[in-house]
Amino acid sequence: MNDIVSLSLEDQIRLLEKKKISSYELTSSYLKNIEEKKDLNCFISINENALEQAEIIDDLKDRKSLIQGIPIAHKDIFCVKGQKTTCGSKMLKNFTSPYSSTVVEKLEKSQTIMLGKTNMDEFAMGSSNETSFFGKVKNPINSLKSPGGSSGGSAAAVKANMCAFATGTDTGGSIRQPASFCGITGIKPTYGRVSRWGMIAFASSLDQAGIFAKSALDSAIALEIISGFDEKDSTSINKEVPNLKNETISKMEHLIGVPKKIIENIEDENVKKNFLENINLLEKNGFKTKDIDLPFLEYSLPSYYVIAPAECSANLSRYDGIKFGYRCENPKDLEDLYVRTRSEGFGEEVKKRILIGTYCLSAGYFDAYYIKAQKIRAMITESFKNAFKNVSVIAMPTCSNEAFDLDSIQDPVKMYEQDIYTIPANLAGLPAISIPSGYKKEMPLGLQFIGNHLEEGKILNISHEFQKLTDYHV
Ligand code: GLN
Repeated sequence: MNDIVSLSLEDQIRLLEKKKISSYELTSSYLKNIEEKKDLNCFISINENALEQAEIIDDLKDRKSLIQGIPIAHKDIFCVKGQKTTCGSKMLKNFTSPYSSTVVEKLEKSQTIMLGKTNMDEFAMGSSNETSFFGKVKNPINSLKSPGGSSGGSAAAVKANMCAFATGTDTGGSIRQPASFCGITGIKPTYGRVSRWGMIAFASSLDQAGIFAKSALDSAIALEIISGFDEKDSTSINKEVPNLKNETISKMEHLIGVPKKIIENIEDENVKKNFLENINLLEKNGFKTKDIDLPFLEYSLPSYYVIAPAECSANLSRYDGIKFGYRCENPKDLEDLYVRTRSEGFGEEVKKRILIGTYCLSAGYFDAYYIKAQKIRAMITESFKNAFKNVSVIAMPTCSNEAFDLDSIQDPVKMYEQDIYTIPANLAGLPAISIPSGYKKEMPLGLQFIGNHLEEGKILNISHEFQKLTDYHV
């Protein structure tokens, strides 16, 4: 029964419940597949105890959770007690976490099996997975292409049937862009919906954990489990988590906002055509749409590339060679220890961002860059607020292009432009999802739905409706 790995999470749950398959069978099939597809470089580490854990779970008398016995993967940004957590960096190459993140704990409590930790851009900075210290990840659809980033390992692992679902993080698009490039579903919930405790920080006001899965319905099941208030994260939202699976399959009325000006300005004709055809499909099937205006969205990218580096420069100051992580050999004195540890331990992209961030925060430039970027952020948030007075969800493409060839983008600004349609939702803290929406030259394209604050259910619902009408996700 080797293609149990290609079944949806929903189907796997059904088979486990009926005892038609065991967690051991599922886990060993995934491990076999991971081994066979090693060349894709999706995993940084494998959990040696996965099979043993599956056996223990199979021996349990009752099912304690819906996803009990399901094998999953974690982006290597989530701390797992007693396991290596590298964040894709030489700096943390030998770091073993003394505690588990809330996301990991919640999934452990649900009796899932962690198969391993997935590859990622270093400290989640990147859109191609090329900045990982552990090498690039290849796109399972075409191994010459990038899987996207920064959570490229998780996206590729789900696409290549190496786990039932995977966790990821999205600061500016790192769940949605790789989901789009690999032709799977990826959801970033509302900022504060999922605890950031134990998730290595990049830009704390933007970072949010989420899920990669085969469909909106599978994503809903997993997202509900990792969501919820956590007193260990001061930005966590203290609101009850709805039954996301029920919301996903329920009958809902939608009015889909389409930001006309943004769509008119899409440069890639294929991306534009694909988007408009999908809107058309939804309209033909009774979904109402409305042209909307989202002013200031064009300033999202510059605003993000001030705020994210500024926050990263503060967050990454903890890697000093003293407390944990990499330390240079034979330092002459303390200054030498700091300088060489950080120069040798961080990769080029990370160092560039620390420098940009430090510059933006320095006296004399703070008002001109950081404060201005925050003002723009407030205006963008306001734009969305106004839009959501009239519509229930907003539709946009996920990316301006399909997956590009590995090593083909040398200009950093071109790489940053990857996030042009994903960053606005992060700046406003809104939930957003990417679902497969068709192809350009055999590579998948993604359709994005952005929801209002805490309305994950609505974007999951419309995505599910879209997936009932199409088969790009199967
Ligand atoms: N690609 C973006 C960046 O490099 C977003 C990364 C992310 O969401 N973690 O900052």
